[in-house]
Amino acid sequence: MSIQAILTREKRKILVAVNPATMEKLGEVPLLSRPEIEAMVAEADRAFPGWAALPVSRRVERLRRAQDYIVDHLDEIAETISKDMGKPRFEAIVHDILTVANLIDYYSKKGPRILADEKIRMSMLFRPFKESTIVRQPYGVVVVISPWNYPFAIPVSGIVFALLAGNTVVFKPASEVAHVGMKIRDIFEKGAGLPPGVFHLVLASGSDIGDSLFKPPVRKVIFTGSTEVGKEIIKKCSEHIIPTVQELGGKDPMVVLPDADLELASNGAVWGAFTNCGQVCASIERCYVHESIYDEFVKRVAEKTKALTLGRWDDPATQVGPMVSPGQLQIVESQVKDAVKSGARVLAGGRNREDMGGYFYEPTVLVDVTHQMKVMNDETFGPVLPIMKFRTDEEAVQLANYGIYGLTASVWGKDRGRAWDMARQIEAGTVCVNDHAYTYGAVETPWQGFKQSGLGVSHSKWGLLEFVQPKHINRSGGLLGGRADREVTRPWFYPYDAQKLSIFRDLSRQFFDRRKSRISKIGLLPKALKLFRAPR
Ligand code: NAD
Repeated sequence: MSIQAILTREKRKILVAVNPATMEKLGEVPLLSRPEIEAMVAEADRAFPGWAALPVSRRVERLRRAQDYIVDHLDEIAETISKDMGKPRFEAIVHDILTVANLIDYYSKKGPRILADEKIRMSMLFRPFKESTIVRQPYGVVVVISPWNYPFAIPVSGIVFALLAGNTVVFKPASEVAHVGMKIRDIFEKGAGLPPGVFHLVLASGSDIGDSLFKPPVRKVIFTGSTEVGKEIIKKCSEHIIPTVQELGGKDPMVVLPDADLELASNGAVWGAFTNCGQVCASIERCYVHESIYDEFVKRVAEKTKALTLGRWDDPATQVGPMVSPGQLQIVESQVKDAVKSGARVLAGGRNREDMGGYFYEPTVLVDVTHQMKVMNDETFGPVLPIMKFRTDEEAVQLANYGIYGLTASVWGKDRGRAWDMARQIEAGTVCVNDHAYTYGAVETPWQGFKQSGLGVSHSKWGLLEFVQPKHINRSGGLLGGRADREVTRPWFYPYDAQKLSIFRDLSRQFFDRRKSRISKIGLLPKALKLFRAPR
């Protein structure tokens, strides 16, 4: 849905939504006030101890029920995603729903082990008498704030991880996709049957929520959206040292090496730039091609782009849908105009197609672009593919690393070693070789931004661990078991005296002398034990 207007009726703000492909009115959505949001956060805080106390296997059971509900309502969910933001049904199912089904299935099996307690193997200094364990403790109330472009896969990934780890959730979707937000609420309330208070949906516009989601009792914020809003949220959270995961904007490069398979690379460029109408954080927004294959590559990309069909979500022939809003469309138009004014040439597309009845813009290929143009610097978040030439691998790495972002990148070539070397030098959270951006759907792998593209990780075991605090518990153990607790002192306690000092000096010298054998070091144990003894 796109936002047509926000009205105020009896002191409540109401969002009027339209389908961006047809401008058909989708309905009115009442928005919450700040006190209502704060009441939800308080309720989530009250529900936390009960949910956290459940064994992880019981939480998995609830998530499995959510998975069943998604499978049973697949078409209905896909229709809502497509009507809210315009993407073809294929993309709603394959990119959004399949990712979530895979995620719940995979982490229902792997999650309990990732979240289990972990013993730390201690150094020889402490191993004989101490043991340390990490227990993974959920934070409490976790806020999930998500964008409109993958309105199902992005938020549900965060919500599932948060719940699995034992947190309660307050979820705020982008206003453009409020109906998808309501479907997600159905999945967790009706489908999973979560206990009251564990999950909350906040329908409110971002600018209205103030600090209500960024102060205690909120304990962690998972934000996906623009770098600009991410910075604002980091500032608000810093007031209370609330940690945040930030999945932010991108301006992702594609590098085409001279030995690339041109058919594969040109197909990849067209999909990587225009899927989801280019409204993808990891969209190919800068394409660098070796001079020896440039002409042929550009020719194929332009032909394939012209062959794409723009259209409605429910036509199976549609490859590219509309943009989500007039605001988004204007950004694209202005970047293309700015580039053309500065000397770029349009080889395909380049036209606003609102004559089709929605916010349509033709998939556009630009050449003769430079790093001085907006289209090579600012995030476009639309269907534009600018292409530049390079001569050497060093130059390609420099070009790819240009700018403030570092979300994903791709390198295309047949020589696996050469592509690997280049992948290692590119500053991005994910680099694919001979593919692009699809790894958001490979939920076992990490998704993360370098530079101003983000902080922290989504998906993968590292992403799941973002939802727990590693609490360290240390006690007597090791070879001596709990026996060290029978003593009334510790080697590092007072009093310091000449005898203790001399034992420690000798131990330090002998223990860390790399020329001494292991056996002679173990022989130091009786001396070390003396350090424990003290008169009761
Ligand atoms: P946005 O930053 O405008 O909004 C994201 C979310 O934040 C929405 O829910 C919005 O309502 C909310 N919001 C806006 N202002 C807020 C405020 N002051 N306080 C609290 N919440 C606020 O982004 P968008 O237009 O929805 O999405 C597009 C952006 O998201 C692009 O920059 C894209 O690159 C980025 N994105 C990043 C990833 C990633 O994984 N790195 C994935 C998808 C999208």
